[in-house]
Amino acid sequence: MTEQDCLFCKIVNGDINADIVFENDSLIAFRDINPKAPTHVLLIPREHIATMNDLEDGHDTLAGELFLTAARIAADEGLADDGYRVVMNCNAAAGQSVFHIHLHLLGGRTMGWPPG
Ligand code: AMP
Repeated sequence: MTEQDCLFCKIVNGDINADIVFENDSLIAFRDINPKAPTHVLLIPREHIATMNDLEDGHDTLAGELFLTAARIAADEGLADDGYRVVMNCNAAAGQSVFHIHLHLLGGRTMGWPPG
């Protein structure tokens, strides 16, 4: 998978439309096209990073920003008090299907545990 072929890089570049809920210089958050909960937002870095295994020391601020922004969006979506889940799938066994890291923010329903 090259960056040219990467679906989420195409969203970053504006080549594919997305329902964007937040963006800044380093990340974009948009609604999942096939939501698994009433609120399902994906947070992605603008930088192409294929999997969580590819995070490096220089990504510490970016990784923190993904979580901080997820918490802020959860609050904006009215999920903070009831609760919500954030998930990052890494590679095939976890179910990763798009190889550009993304944090799932899911809320608006009661979640089961452990996840499938
Ligand atoms: P994962 O299985 O963790 O890699 O998650 C990939 C997610 O991307 C899935 O929940 C898909 O529904 C979502 N997805 C795929 N294509 C799009 C798209 N064009 N816009 C928004 N979400 C998408």
